[in-house]
Amino acid sequence: MGLIRAVFDAAFRQGGARLKPVGPRWPLLLFHVDTGGCGGCGMELQALAAGPYDMQGAGFGFVPSPASADVLLVTGPLTRTMAPVLEAAWQAMPKPKGLICVGGCAVDGGIFPENYAVLGGLDRKATVDLHIPGCPPSPQQVLDGLCSLFGQRAQPAQNSQAAGSSSTSS
Ligand code: SF4
Repeated sequence: MGLIRAVFDAAFRQGGARLKPVGPRWPLLLFHVDTGGCGGCGMELQALAAGPYDMQGAGFGFVPSPASADVLLVTGPLTRTMAPVLEAAWQAMPKPKGLICVGGCAVDGGIFPENYAVLGGLDRKATVDLHIPGCPPSPQQVLDGLCSLFGQRAQPAQNSQAAGSSSTSS
């Protein structure tokens, strides 16, 4: 987690992890690329952004361009079609930058075996700063994972029924 740690350490005031980061890295800006999954993880990320999770209050926000992103969120197994897209997004991001895998497929391919079209997960292909497990992880689990980078816990969602998972989770 070296790169992300560098971002976070630089953004924290002295005094410990109870204080929110300040400066241009606050909120931490996320860019999402689905490299070929079933879409479930991506839908959970949409629910996180639009639902009652106070993502902004926790210090995170999605951006539509990698050029303004601090962290690349990847969902799904890496397909041959999306490999150059992922590489281009990574290269477009300013340094320092971090890489987070959301869901099992992004790390090891999950339910998608390697074949002529699928290259598998990012494990052993890239330095992954954080893996948020699940198939798919719920929005609250994604937010908990992101907050763990700060050494903090996410606040529960305003609507307790939404705290466990969005309607896309089984
Ligand atoms: S981890 Fe599960 S929900 Fe996410 S892309 Fe893979 S199969 Fe779909």
